[in-house]
Amino acid sequence: MSEIVTSLINGRRVAADGGHQLPVVDPASEAVTGVLREADAAEVDAAVSAARKAFDGWSNMSTDRRNDILYAIDSHLRAHGDELAELEARTTGLPIAGIRPLMDRAAENFRRFAEVASTVSGETYTQNAQFLTYTTREAKGVGALIAPWNAPLALGSMRLATCIAFGNTCVLKPSEQTPESTVRMVELMHEAGLPEGVVNIVNGRGSVTGEALTTHADIDMIGFTGGTTTGKRIMAAAGAALKPAILELGGKSAAIVAPDADLDRAIDGTLLAIYASNGQQCLGGSRILVHKSIADRFIAEFVARARKIRIGNPLDPQTEFGPLAFQGHRDHILSYIDVARREGVEVLCGGERPAGLDKGWYVEPIVALAPNNRTRVCQEEIFGPFATFLIYSDLDEAIAIANDSAFGLVSYVWTRDLSTAMACSRRIRAGTIWVNTPMMRELRAPFGGYRESGVGRDGARHSADFFTEAKTTSIPLEDTAIRRLGA
Ligand code: NDP
Repeated sequence: MSEIVTSLINGRRVAADGGHQLPVVDPASEAVTGVLREADAAEVDAAVSAARKAFDGWSNMSTDRRNDILYAIDSHLRAHGDELAELEARTTGLPIAGIRPLMDRAAENFRRFAEVASTVSGETYTQNAQFLTYTTREAKGVGALIAPWNAPLALGSMRLATCIAFGNTCVLKPSEQTPESTVRMVELMHEAGLPEGVVNIVNGRGSVTGEALTTHADIDMIGFTGGTTTGKRIMAAAGAALKPAILELGGKSAAIVAPDADLDRAIDGTLLAIYASNGQQCLGGSRILVHKSIADRFIAEFVARARKIRIGNPLDPQTEFGPLAFQGHRDHILSYIDVARREGVEVLCGGERPAGLDKGWYVEPIVALAPNNRTRVCQEEIFGPFATFLIYSDLDEAIAIANDSAFGLVSYVWTRDLSTAMACSRRIRAGTIWVNTPMMRELRAPFGGYRESGVGRDGARHSADFFTEAKTTSIPLEDTAIRRLGA
């Protein structure tokens, strides 16, 4: 065992002794590589106090000065991109080749939201001739931020950047399964000049540390990225305490492949949309809807390619697909193979331990063909490398299937026909529609889900709205009459 991962408060790791300890396990070898020391309610309280203390200085700093620090963070994180990518790959099992560009994205989040902060401005109202009324936007306070395990730095940095760029301070809780890379990233942020207390980390289980954080009386808002069940719990706690919450939750997204699609691109895109990040992504295209006229050919080609995906050690640059993040998650995904078979879903390939990989939470990518969309594998978020095909007859049916879901995060459409693309864009109830491209993330545009995929949107204007308060000031332009009581 090499390292004890602790909380980080006021820019420093807290003492490693005492406390409840949890093992940190390498998903590729199953070896215990470290220990996580869990933050209890008192430690969460210390982190929130640190964020509160830092709030005045950070929120009152000029935006230009704050942005200098955020730009320095971007540069410093980029300079440490290789180190962070290796740590992230070791922690999560994500292949290093796929993860490395995400490290630059994590850094870029700080630059992009600094740019947004630069353009935030209020409004003036002069319609009432006697008054000038104007609005300003002010930092909201201390954010409780929660991030999941599937992409700790890409998602954690998004939560952090959208919060601190507008002058807020925060406490972030990463997942207990993948804590190390986030602590290192925040250490690097301090090296780049982040004042102490602006970003604090508490580590531990959601039920202990996360709950203590999201129900803490002195937080002002909650930013949560994670599963729908936890999201509902957090929303309920936020509602009881009247705290605003932004929730980015799960998905069960449809990828519609029309008969006129460029099938080579559609094969590449649908494979990537479900199997990138080892299949553990909220925006995975897990239901692939293929037109009956091309179904046999398309599915056969998809299965052939899925079988050839290079599975291996996440640190090997040739690896395309690594181990799943932890044992419980691997077991959860495999349990759906029985669920599928019981419902008449045909498992076409995958689900076995790959030959030669005797240790680690490895699973071959799974492809299934479902008789209908009401099956559990089409309705429940599996959050793993489990692609399910459905065959449709016409576009109306495809759109109806896409919308027959509790979720509505994203949708993919593969077509050369403009009217098909436009019909999908207009009629599918999801926060983002990708036409002929997988997973294009425009940071300026809103991102978030319909229905059980979330509440609120990340993005330039939307994040600024959520993470600031609007204040209205009215000033009379001359001495207006004031009704005199008791005169
Ligand atoms: P969970 O909901 O299980 O956990 C998310 C985070 O919440 C973890 O840090 C977890 O801690 C914490 N948590 C759990 N219970 C509580 C609680 N009562 N109070 C406060 N915090 C709590 O999700 P996963 O970590 O399993 O992540 C996968 C999910 O995230 C999937 O559903 C996926 O779709 C979704 N997701 C959504 C994205 C989006 O942008 N829409 C992006 C990426 C993922 P711990 O792990 O320690 O229990």
